[in-house]
Formats: sequence, structure tokens, C-alpha cells
Amino acid sequence: MLEENETTFEEFYLQLEAKLKGVVPHIEIKYKAELAWKINKLKKDKNAVILGHNYMEPALYHSITDYVGDSLELSREAAKTENDIIVFCGVKFMAETAKILNPEKTVLLPSEKAGCSLAESITAADVRNLKKKFPGVPVVTYVNTYADVKAESDICCTSGNAAAVVNSLQTDTVIFLPDEYLAKNVARETGKHIIFPSNKNGNGTDVDFQMIGWHGKCEVHEKFTVEDIENVRKQFPDVVILAHPECSPEVVEASDFSGSTSAMTKYVEETSLNRYLLLTECSMGDNIAAANRGKEMLRLCSVRCPHMNEITLEDTLKALELNQYVIEIPESIRVRAAIAVERMLTIG
Ligand code: SF4
Repeated sequence: MLEENETTFEEFYLQLEAKLKGVVPHIEIKYKAELAWKINKLKKDKNAVILGHNYMEPALYHSITDYVGDSLELSREAAKTENDIIVFCGVKFMAETAKILNPEKTVLLPSEKAGCSLAESITAADVRNLKKKFPGVPVVTYVNTYADVKAESDICCTSGNAAAVVNSLQTDTVIFLPDEYLAKNVARETGKHIIFPSNKNGNGTDVDFQMIGWHGKCEVHEKFTVEDIENVRKQFPDVVILAHPECSPEVVEASDFSGSTSAMTKYVEETSLNRYLLLTECSMGDNIAAANRGKEMLRLCSVRCPHMNEITLEDTLKALELNQYVIEIPESIRVRAAIAVERMLTIG
């Protein structure tokens, strides 16, 4: 990431302009560079670290973050930071994970509106009900959930390590919550038969099953369709299509590669192909395009996550100035959630 250390504002601006050329409208770059310059100064004065998810808008992503990555990478960074303040440029469940791992540190989320359709799809009471219905079956919970849901779980996972986490349990049966599509994709990868007991058609206790899922969906990734893929392939037959595992199994099947946001980034960096299409949040396409100038990135850019979009440079500056919005988790919940998150971190 760009540093203001030893550089003048003019140098900082020129570096940012070179990075964002063609990705961010030129007229916005100076204004955003001024905000970023102030944020970087305040960050240093307050001994803060800024973690930025891959879905942050390109100017923020390339100007103020100390670490960028997917949920798993940022959880790891959060676990080892020595700074007093963690500013999480991502959504609420991510900032909560940082707090779960760093109870003594101040964790700030720049916008109170940065939620997530997956995290909101399930409550701790829903998990308790499932555990009653399927006693003794281990609960794997995607990190895209709130702390009280994690506290009811045996282990967490991300899209990058979901299959490895399921396999690590060495049981025939798991409860996998709350993303329906990720669960179906993991079921296929691990060879398990999945049921959804929240279906009205049956409680699922009388059928053969190995994975028990839930009907949560990512409001961004559920929008991609096989038809989108067919249309792009017609126009660009040499395109290589990368899909996030929160997309439907049909979309994943019709793509050339599926992986977490970091796995997609790595794939683009390590291959030299003519064209790529990323089926994920559109700011990530912009960020990869800015970092891989020689490679053509196609984007279906009507799909911006409204929650990630709440995090702006303006709000990040305010967060540092006013020490807002502080993430708080009751200790009885935090301790139990930490067990599930730390178990995941030992798996990789
Ligand atoms: S992209 Fe989907 S999973 Fe990620 S924060 Fe937005 S709604 Fe949640």
C-alpha cells in the first residue's frame, strides 16, 4: 500500500493517480488523495492499523490500508496486530471477528450501516433450535455471521477454507450455516448429501443426509446466472471465468475456477491469460484491474454490495477523529465465539 512516510503530499497524490488511472474518475482522485493523506497522518498519531476487505472501493483500498485481503486473511492480521486501534474497512461481522480476537483493543467500524444479508439471515436462537433437532452434530458456521451465532458454533470457516474445515471434523454429518450456495458447493466438493430442514417439506430427520444447511444468501453473489456466463462466452470465447463460492452451484459449475476473493486474486496474478471475468463484487474487479495493468478484466458491474459501499474515506476519517463506531461484544458471547474462530485459524 502507498505510504505517506518520507513523501510529500504531491508525491503521494502522483503515486495514487498512477495507481487509479482509468479505474477512478480523474476528477475524484485529488479529493480522495487529500482525505487519504489526513487519514494516514491520524492513523500514525493514534497508533491505529487499517484493515481493508477486497471489496473496498479502489481509492480507499489503494491509499489507506495497511493490510488487504479476504475475511480469513484479515482475521489472521487482526489476531496478530500490536496497534492500539483496529479500523475495519469492511462490514460489521468482520469488525466483530477482529474484536473477538482482540478483546483489549479498540475496534472501529466506520459506518453503522455496514451489515450483510448472510449475517442477518440467521440468529443464535435458530442455531440452538437446529442443535436441539440434530443433537451431537457439529456446527460449522461461515464467518459471515454475528458474534452470538459464532458463539453457538463448534468451528467457523471462510469461503477459502470451508471444505478443509468440514473434512477436519472427521464426522459423517455436519450442520453448515448459513449460506445455502456455499453449503451446496462444499457438499459437492466433499461428496456429502445435503438437506435443508427449514424447508416446509419435511424436518429432515427421516432422510439420509450428511450436511444440514440453511437458506441464507449473499444478495450480491446470488444475482449471477448461467445465462450471464453464456452471454459473455459468446462475445469473448477466450475468457476465463472466476466465480466466488457464494454463487449458485450452477454458476460455479459453468465457471472455470471457483475460490475466495484472495484465491481469485492469486489466480489472476499467477496466470497470463488474455481475459478474465470475475463473478464477484465489482469493486474487487476494479482493485484487481488496478493491480494487474497488463491483463484485461471484464466485469458485470451492476453488482455492488450495498453494505461494503457504506464504508467511505469520509467515514473512515470521522471514525478516527471521533473514535466511532466502537464494536462491543458481551464477554460471555465473545469467549465462546473466540473458540470457534480460533479453531478455524488453526486449520488454515
Ligand atoms: S458481498 Fe454478500 S456476503 Fe459480502 S458483505 Fe455483501 S452481502 Fe454480505
